[in-house]
Amino acid sequence: MPVLDEVLSANAAYAESFGDKSELPLPPARGFAILTCMDARLDPAKYAGLSEGDAHVIRNAGGRASDDAIRSLVISYKLLGTKEWFVIHHTNCGMEFFTDGVMRGLLANSLETAALGEAGFEDFGTGPGSAEAKYIDWLTIADQAESVLEDVTRIKAHPLVPNEIPVYGYIYDVATGRLSEVPEATAAGASL
Ligand SMILES: [Zn+2]
Repeated sequence: MPVLDEVLSANAAYAESFGDKSELPLPPARGFAILTCMDARLDPAKYAGLSEGDAHVIRNAGGRASDDAIRSLVISYKLLGTKEWFVIHHTNCGMEFFTDGVMRGLLANSLETAALGEAGFEDFGTGPGSAEAKYIDWLTIADQAESVLEDVTRIKAHPLVPNEIPVYGYIYDVATGRLSEVPEATAAGASL
């Protein structure tokens, strides 16, 4: 079955038993937000025990505190009342396997999907590619604990983020499903 049909048929079944979720209020009931990676192996609803209506989940490549992630977090507290935030990166993140320079080179070569081999990503596509990639900061990750600390620190220091919001830093292990704290990050994210 093509993906489009699979998704639409899964959605029809979901809507069939939607029940009282139609009554859910807009602000997240449990008052918190998670910033995490888009990696397909991570399911924040499952790893953090969320139901519809519980929390905000903001996802991007790496779970990085980009300007756009901060935009969502600010909306999350300012308009929808969240009071605690998590930054959750993970082991074996794809963002560890390239740098800005590599990504720029791959995209300059072609727009086709690159292959991940022993030596990292390699491009076998047919061009043309585009030089536009050099204007994007790809926010790659060299060290997981370091990236969590960096993002918690950036969020915490942001002028639109009030001091009272604690930001917790964690790493999700894709081999066990377990969350481990990055203590320096949680310390940096403590509410003052
Ligand atoms: Zn990832």
